[in-house]
Amino acid sequence: TAGLDVTQIRKDFPILQQQVHGKPLVYLDNGATTQKPQVVIAAEARYYEEYNSNVHRGVHHLSQVATNAYERARITVAGYINAADPHEVIFTKGTTDGINLVANTMSRRFLNEGDSVIISSMEHHSNIVPWQIACEERGATLKVIPINERGELLMDAYEAMLDDTVKIVAVTYVSNTMGTINPVEDIITLAHARNIPVLLDAAQAIQHISIDVQALDVEFLAFSGHKIYAPTGTGVLYGKKAWLDKLPPYQGGGDMIKTVTFEKTIYNELPYKFEAGTPNIAGAIALGTAIEYLQQTGISKIQQWEEELMEYAMQELRKIDGIRFIGDAARRSGAISFLVHNIHPFDMGELLDQQGIAVRTGHHCTEPLMDIFKIPGTVRASLSFYNTREDIDKLVAGVKRAAAMLL
Ligand code: PMP
Repeated sequence: TAGLDVTQIRKDFPILQQQVHGKPLVYLDNGATTQKPQVVIAAEARYYEEYNSNVHRGVHHLSQVATNAYERARITVAGYINAADPHEVIFTKGTTDGINLVANTMSRRFLNEGDSVIISSMEHHSNIVPWQIACEERGATLKVIPINERGELLMDAYEAMLDDTVKIVAVTYVSNTMGTINPVEDIITLAHARNIPVLLDAAQAIQHISIDVQALDVEFLAFSGHKIYAPTGTGVLYGKKAWLDKLPPYQGGGDMIKTVTFEKTIYNELPYKFEAGTPNIAGAIALGTAIEYLQQTGISKIQQWEEELMEYAMQELRKIDGIRFIGDAARRSGAISFLVHNIHPFDMGELLDQQGIAVRTGHHCTEPLMDIFKIPGTVRASLSFYNTREDIDKLVAGVKRAAAMLL
């Protein structure tokens, strides 16, 4: 287990102790959302119990305690992704919110008729639709990097797409449906050769892969708190200061201003320019706690154990008669999508649920990807470091049992 005491770790997650339909819960839907360790739940509760107060407003004691905790969480996030300055970390509602922020503000300032935006074939709807909206409004074109049958980006095709019309490249670091790890270093280097900024959707990477935004030299990176063991409704948009300064505000309101008159408003400095209104204070603080929990557990140990688990899962699943993987990339993390013979994913998912095994079925918010593979959906198992080899064995046995019943 890569030096991790997984039995002990599982005790940190209260929800994992329960039974579902009379069977011990096997939670393999971590791509949809991760479970929360007790320390994160406690951090959220402690805010409301001990120092609930609005941030950046009051001179009174509680407001200062809350502000300090909120800003400490920002520093923790900045450290985790190695941002040069905590002010490059903007708290959002999640990945969707972060991508919309960039798509909206970037397009208003920099996207014009005849321009284009590059995304990839394996994007989540939240990294497709905001760009479609932007392109439609600005008269720009959306260009899509194709993939091979293993679910890997065709990098030659990508390179050929890069021309002077491209104003931003927005791609996912890891595919939520197939687990493909994209060659983000090469994607960024090629874009930068033409002075094109890059946004990485790190929703499925941040909890599995150590990320250094300065080493990557990426302009924007978005992720969700709830996929990295923190509460829902939290998230982060990292942006290079020079870029965030260039973008107009996203939403107007309290906290994002320096001075307001009816004639003119002076916007606040970073990151507050992009944090209009009262934020999810408790959630942001608990996100900081989640990251501290991961750091204490050991990021590299987590990564190594998850890689071992992934390898074991693929090895065991390959033995199932009639299994077909949707995406079988050389480099992968987190998610495994498959179909067995012609069994509908929903039927498989239901029978697995009856055995206490939680997987996701459907299109996973990647409908265009499903169209490429000409399938309505997949069964997706997605891993966390609190999963065990036993979980995988139960999944494999469960899939076999379901197949025997359905075929
Ligand atoms: N991008 C990817 C790759 C995702 O997996 C998800 C969540 N499934 C999102 C974006 C959207 O995240 P959220 O719903 O938390 O905003």
